[in-house]
Formats: sequence, C-alpha cells, structure tokens
Amino acid sequence: MSKFPADQIKTIGIYTSGGDAPGMNAAIRSAARIALYHGLDVRGIVGGYPGMLSGEFVPITQGSMGNILQRGGTILKTGRSPEFHQADARAKAAANLRAAGIDALVCIGGDGSFAGARLLHQEHRVPIVGVPGTIDNDVFGTDFTIGFDTAVNIALEAIDRIRDTAASHDRLFIVEVMGRDSGFIAVDVGVAGGAEEIFFPENAVTVDEAIDHIRRGMARGKKSSILIAAEGRKPGRAYDLAEAIRKKSGFEAKVCILGHVQRGGSPTAADRILASRLGAAAVDALRRGECDCLAGVKGGQVVTVPFEQALGKKKTVGRELIELARMLSY
Ligand code: ADP
Repeated sequence: MSKFPADQIKTIGIYTSGGDAPGMNAAIRSAARIALYHGLDVRGIVGGYPGMLSGEFVPITQGSMGNILQRGGTILKTGRSPEFHQADARAKAAANLRAAGIDALVCIGGDGSFAGARLLHQEHRVPIVGVPGTIDNDVFGTDFTIGFDTAVNIALEAIDRIRDTAASHDRLFIVEVMGRDSGFIAVDVGVAGGAEEIFFPENAVTVDEAIDHIRRGMARGKKSSILIAAEGRKPGRAYDLAEAIRKKSGFEAKVCILGHVQRGGSPTAADRILASRLGAAAVDALRRGECDCLAGVKGGQVVTVPFEQALGKKKTVGRELIELARMLSY
C-alpha cells in the first residue's frame, strides 16, 4: 500500500480490464457515483489498457450511470493489451492520463489487470486502487470477486436442467464449467448441484476413482450421474475425461460445455451489492490517500489489501468444502 496526498485528486478515471464479469457495471456505477457525490470529476477509459494507450476517455455523469446496474458485461468495454507489458507503452499511457487531467484510477479486473496497474503506479506514480471483478474468484486477498456468484448461479441452473434429462434417460453427464487455474466455480456448483464427482486443479481425483464412484452409485440403484469438470487451461477437458472413462469402464458420458454463457447475463443481487460496496470502497481509499491496493471483502467486512500482499499469490478452494462435497456424494 502506498500513501499519496489525496487533496491532489480532482478527477478519477475508471476502467474495466481482462475478462468481463457480471456486476462490472454495478462497480463502475458505484465508483462513479461515490466520486461524483464527493465533488470529483469522473472519466471512463474505454476498453481497458488499449483505451488508455489510444487515449479513449469519456466523461461520466450521474445520468450516464443510469439503467446499467442490472446489465451484464461492461458498458466501458474491456480488452487485453500485450503492449502494456512494455515500459514504453506504460509511459505513453501515463502521459495520456496526465494530458486528460486524470489524477487517479479505479481498475476493475483480475490479477493480470492489477499487475499492469501496479507497474503504472510504481513507474509513474499514478494512484490506483483495484476492484476484483472476475467470475473465477481467483484473486487473493478477497473472499469473493464480482461476477463469481452470478456465474455459479447460471451454471447451477444449467446443471438442474441437465439433471432432468440425465435422470429421464439414465445417463452419465460431464458438465464443464469455467475456472482457469482454480476450482471455485466447480466446487460451489458441485455442492449446490449435488454432483457425484468434481474435477478441478486442487482436487486430485483420478478417472479410476470417478469410475469406482459411479459403480458405487449404480450398486445402490442410481441410474444417472453428473460429474463437474473445471475447464482448466484448455477448454474441452470434459471430452478427454469422457473418453478416458469410456476406455476404462465402457460407460458412455455425454458432455456439456457451459462456456461463455456463464459470463453473461444480469448480475445476482449478491454481485450487485458486492460491486456497489467495492466500487465505493475503492474511491474511499483514494480519498484517504491510499493506493497500490485492492478493495475486497474478508469475513463480510470491506477491506483494502496492498497489491504487494495479494498479487502473485494463489487463492485455493477451502479443504472443508472439498471434503464436504466428497462425503455428500459418497
Ligand atoms: P485479468 O485482469 O482478468 O487477470 P489478464 O490477465 O488478461 O486479465 O490481464 C489484462 C491485461 O492486463 C493484459 O492484457 C495486459 O494488458 C495487462 N497485464 C497483465 N499482466 C501484466 C503484467 N505483468 N505487466 C503489465 N501489464 C499486464
């Protein structure tokens, strides 16, 4: 966490970056409205770092934040910029911000976006506070990220539907959910949806164990099963699992890859409230002269966590939930 003279801030820039997540609009709205409430000017940076590099800045008013709270995606657009990994690109971004009179930033995104923000702060003293927005819930330092709850609920609704057809046809289904390096979505959906097995990076379930599990269920008279797989680095992993299960056991599994449907749609109440709290907390931190940190929730309380303590650390699914899922489906 760094300190800076808060009275130097007259204009705040807000941007969304990396993968979009439902609730990002609610975070933009909250950060903007709290800043405006305190008499600050607000600019939107269109498209994340690419927009910072091309100088695409738009004024934000109370009115322009109307009717966006319930909308998925991000009205500011989001993007990725390989260029931003280069110091000269970050120098250009800092110059563009200065020229536009933007004194401080609220960055809504994930780990990658925060890494870029941190460098911009270290190299050019731009005060920045991060707001964790990603469906994966994989940002260390906060219990929840914006978009995670919506993604879990969308996946759960799909799984409930799949269970109807699985039960009617006595079928085995493997449902692939999002989750790059972590199994937060997979485990929550697995527990809430009553899955028989959950495959995700922190859970070392083998194909043999899954087959034993299915056989145990069949011996009890169970005719359909649902297995959940986190996509991992390479989407389509569920097909490899289905093939491995077929080869070893002869069981034919149907595969359903939920993919990007989990990222769209109207945010849940929980995500809207989280986004509203964290957007406001980011602006409050800047007004206290705090930066180089993220606004998160810990044990239900809003906190600020220095980027130094949060970035590069792996947040993992709690053992208690993993063990519960195992026992409930035994
Ligand atoms: P997320 O924020 O969802 O984790 P990414 O990892 O794709 O998304 O990062 C979004 C953008 O942040 C990248 O396209 C890049 O412009 C910037 N970025 C990511 N990592 C770094 C880094 N180490 N240094 C500078 N910029 C970075």
